[in-house]
Order: sequence, then C-alpha cells, then structure tokens
Amino acid sequence: MMKAGMNVARINFSHGKAEDHMETIARLRRIADEENVVLALLGDLQGPKIRLGEFETIYLNADDEVRFSLDGSVEGTLGLPHKELFDALKAGAKMIIGDGEMDLEVISNDGTVLVCKSIYEGELKQRKGINTPGTKHSIPAITKKDREDLAFICQFELDFVALSFVRSAEDIDELRSLMEAQGKSIPIIAKIEKFEAMQNLKGIAKAANGMMVARGDLGLDMPTEQLPMLQKEIISIGNRYGIPVITATQMLASMETSPRPTRAEASDIANAILDGTDAVMLSNETAVGRHPALAVRTMGEIAQNTEKNFPYKAWRSKRKSIAKLGSISDAISTSSCNLAEQINAKMIVTSTMSGYTARHISRHRPVTPIYAVTPLTKTRRRLALLWGVECIRMGQIESTDEMIAESISAIESEDTMLNLKPGDLIVLTGGVPFGRTGHTNLIQVHEFEGANKPD
Ligand code: PEP
Repeated sequence: MMKAGMNVARINFSHGKAEDHMETIARLRRIADEENVVLALLGDLQGPKIRLGEFETIYLNADDEVRFSLDGSVEGTLGLPHKELFDALKAGAKMIIGDGEMDLEVISNDGTVLVCKSIYEGELKQRKGINTPGTKHSIPAITKKDREDLAFICQFELDFVALSFVRSAEDIDELRSLMEAQGKSIPIIAKIEKFEAMQNLKGIAKAANGMMVARGDLGLDMPTEQLPMLQKEIISIGNRYGIPVITATQMLASMETSPRPTRAEASDIANAILDGTDAVMLSNETAVGRHPALAVRTMGEIAQNTEKNFPYKAWRSKRKSIAKLGSISDAISTSSCNLAEQINAKMIVTSTMSGYTARHISRHRPVTPIYAVTPLTKTRRRLALLWGVECIRMGQIESTDEMIAESISAIESEDTMLNLKPGDLIVLTGGVPFGRTGHTNLIQVHEFEGANKPD
C-alpha cells in the first residue's frame, strides 16, 4: 500500500486491542523506513459510539413493536445500555440501526422502557451502532475508553488524533486539554458525523487542526439526500480556515471484493478533489478488502488524473476572498502563489517548522508545485495530509540567512529528483524569525544555478 501511494495510515481504535495496534504501528514504521516513505499515523478515537446491548438476534416485520430497557432486565425488553437515550428520546424520534439496515421510531418513553416500532422488516442484531438523527443527548464527548486510547496515542507519538462524533468546539478543546495534561500537542482531526457538528462547523474548524467528512455516520445522522452538499460545505469551510479536510467512507466500496471500481466511485473521488478535499480515505477497502494495494493505486491514479485537469484558474480567482483580509501571513501565502504563477516559477519552496506556511499555501491550490523544507521529521509526517505538498529535509538552522541557504541547498541536493535546470526560478517563502508559527512574512525569488555549480 505504501508503494501504491498511501501517505497516512489510520489506526481505528473502534477495533482491536492495544497489542494489535502496537504491532501494526511497529510494522508501519519499519516498512516506511525501509521504503523511505513519509508516512503519517492517525489514531482515530471511537468517541461516544452508541450501541445496542447484547441479545439474541430477533426478526421484525414492518410496524412490529420492540421494547428496550437499560440492561434488558425488564420483561419483554432488549438491552440499550445508554441512560442518556432514555432521558432524551421523545415519541416520534428516529433510531437508525447499524449502517442503516433498520429504522426504528419511538412510540413512547417513560424513562425506563422505550417502546419503538420497526419501519421496515429485517433482523435486529446485538451491539449494532445507533444514530439518533435530530435528538440531542448528553453522552460525554470523550469516553473512558477514549482517554485510555489517547494515552496510548500520546505514548506512541502518533501524528494525528481524530475525535469521532464531535458536536462542538468544546469537544475539541477538551481533547486538547487532556493532551496538554500529558505534555503533548498532537494535531486534532474533528470527524464531522453529527447534525450538531454541522450546526457548529465554523467553531469546530477554528478549534481543530483538520476535519474529516465522515460520510458513513453523517449520512445516517442527516438525510442522505443532503450529504453531497454537506460534504461541499465542510470542504469549503476547511479550506477557508486553512485546515486540511479528509473525505472518507465508501470511496471505493466495490473494491472490497472487485478489482475494478464502479464508475460512480471514480467520479466521487474526482469530485471531492475538485471541491478542494486535501485527502481521500479508504476504510473497509484496505482494512478487510480483497485488493488493498490495488484500491490505493486506483485511488491514486484517479487523484493524479483529476489534478492534471484541476481548475487552477478558478482557484486563482478565489484566492483573495479565501484569505483573511489584513493578515500578513495570508497575504504572503496568496502572493507566493500569484508570484510563482506570474513568473512561471518551477516551484514554491516554503521553509517551515510547524507546517503553517505550507498549509496556507496549499489551500490556495497553486498550479506551481509546493515543496516544504523542514528540519523536523514530525512536521514532514504531518504535512503528508496536505494537498500537493512534497517534503524535503533540511539541516538545523539558527538565522534567516541560514534558513534561505539551507532551503536552497536542500532543494539542490534533491535536484535530480526535481529536475531543475540552470535559470529555473524558485519562489521561496517562510517566516522570520524562523520557527514562530503563523508568521509567514518573507518571499524571495531565487534563480537556480545548477546543482554542481563551481565555487
Ligand atoms: C464514518 O463514519 O464515515 C467514519 C469515517 O467513521 P468510522 O469509520 O470510524 O465509523
């Protein structure tokens, strides 16, 4: 999968045990080293996933009644081990079971026994997930299991942490404080999969370091017909706030079994990219599918072909409106893209410690290739999530002059790979003093003199 183009691997804490994750992480890191691939690891916290209790599968006809109590101990009831649902669900509320296999409607709720009717016929199976579209409940955003998994993610220094079922910016703030208490600050990806998150999207985008269009659950929590426009909205807000967006779930679902995607899937990937998604994600396709590497390669080929035909001109004209008026960093980022295009530069080189400048250039989708140079391995991995950013390692630096000199020499040492010719122009950008996050204030045009120039 790495050879086929995987840049980020998601460790999903909804499945598996700590020992399994340890083994997976060690294997991923070893192979990334062997293959010289910059691979980021994303730890995905399960969040407050609501599930049915344990019981024998039952068969329901349409309009059949089914009753629940907290632990299933009341006669004629099945277990639903979430007190908060007994506090929140009102008659008429919807409960969507599993991946949408069954729909239940609440008939009555006395706080102890919840009476529902089944909308369709089908099997109701234990431990299935539940979505309650339109019902707000008070289940804590970060569970005991999430806290344990977060400690693991911090201990193993994963590159991103994703929080599931985010409802508001406060959920992100809480996760950040928990990390800070452990002396860590791993970038947080907010998984947008609840209707409340859609209501608080701007606040979440401000608080988080990235967002995921978690279409699996979002498509159950919101009406399916709204999903395409919600996806566009999340991507556009992420872009406006300068944070990467991952579009996830069922992107190549048919490749779980088939060696070829459906034509609709190919278009889905391309359209997400055209809308401005930074990353596209595979789940079941690579976790349990029959053709994991082929699925990654297919996705990569669709992405590359889409980018050949990317509407760079349209993005150029959006630049001013996306940038925050009055911000020097934004003005420098937009200007770097405009300048590079105007002088037909071969590349934009951004020297960065935190990745901030690279992120702000990437969101403008310049036609000019972006290279981020950084002395920090951690930053190189974090940049793996961004659209169109390649990373190059540079030595440690102390001053602005060193920053410029080191960036140029990092590029020159990769010259064969980058195919530069003497006379080629490079737009160089970064922040002075170097290392202060969010402080892009320098642009320079450099003329490439050749890799093996005489002294
Ligand atoms: C989703 O719901 O689309 C999603 C990405 O979350 P998960 O795979 O963790 O259920």
